[in-house]
Amino acid sequence: MTPLAREIAERIAAEGPMTVAEFMALALGHPRHGYYATRDPLGRAGDFVTAPEISQMFGEMVGVWLAAAWEGAGRPAPVRLVELGPGRGTLMADALRAAGRSGLGQAADLWLVETSPVLRAAQAERLPGAAWAASLAEVPEGPLLLVANEFFDALPVRQFLASPEGWRERVVGLVEGRLAWGLSPPLPGPAGAEGDWAERSPAAEETAAEIARRLRADGGAALVIDYGYARPRPPGWTLQAVRAHARADPLAAPGETDLTWLVDFPRLAACFEGLATWHAEQGAFLARLGIGARAEALARAAPDRAGAVADALERLTAPEGMGTLFRVLAALPEGRPPPPGFAPASEAPR
Ligand code: SAH
Repeated sequence: MTPLAREIAERIAAEGPMTVAEFMALALGHPRHGYYATRDPLGRAGDFVTAPEISQMFGEMVGVWLAAAWEGAGRPAPVRLVELGPGRGTLMADALRAAGRSGLGQAADLWLVETSPVLRAAQAERLPGAAWAASLAEVPEGPLLLVANEFFDALPVRQFLASPEGWRERVVGLVEGRLAWGLSPPLPGPAGAEGDWAERSPAAEETAAEIARRLRADGGAALVIDYGYARPRPPGWTLQAVRAHARADPLAAPGETDLTWLVDFPRLAACFEGLATWHAEQGAFLARLGIGARAEALARAAPDRAGAVADALERLTAPEGMGTLFRVLAALPEGRPPPPGFAPASEAPR
């Protein structure tokens, strides 16, 4: 048992089973033993690789998008440039370099929303001049340009299963002293079709609502990139654990395993109330922003790296790579021209 598994087991023994969201919040965010609190999980030696760590081209395309969104908003200065869950700070460093000539860098008041002390230290090395916040609510009001890559999928999620007696919530309990899955008694309210499932993340929905409130009040734009789906939905619950680049049992070693779920993009889009939303698959989004031409330029400038650049382009955009598993959602005040990277008829995902 990990130290965190022992602590969670003691808590369940005293207070009864906990929801999946409570378990996830402890497994990822416990101040002493939480997964993100204790390590930098990104990269080849870590547990998983994210798009900005695959190639500088990813952050550069985000920089091109942010500069265009800033232009579209009328070049407000200062503008709160906010990244949620910035990891090593790689995406923002590449984005600011790519946005260089636009003037966004000079106008930007850079805020990083990050809870992990380990990752805050990594971000400080790459992004001098940044300020940190533990949540978006701590960032001062004002025109907002926000980006989040693989952030929402790390927020705690609740899981439900329908039965003829009513919906039941999936919980973590104890069987012979070990952590085990269980189901709550039927919840009051309407019953669902037997076997139907649901996942809801109050933290994700509240964060989206807070972004929307700020964009309605002060203008700007938001770009959310994540592992997720539109319709049809996957066949069942999507919570998964990853350790050392392989699937793992979410209950086996809490605090030492990454936990994520697949973001339901139509549901998330609906949380950006009062805004226009745009939706694309990551591969198409990056292609429309010009990642192909950027890859050619990089390969021409450093021919010995041409193979690596081509591999990275493939991983980021191909359907077998991250091209269709990852999706992009943009949210802007109503009435603005379509942001770059989205097809004309790509409004809300359905
Ligand atoms: N965006 C980065 C890192 C993704 S990993 C990249 O693409 O490489 C998830 C990031 O979100 C980490 O930086 C993690 O510490 C942060 N994070 C997770 N839950 C958080 C929370 N509740 N509040 C703030 N940051 C959180």
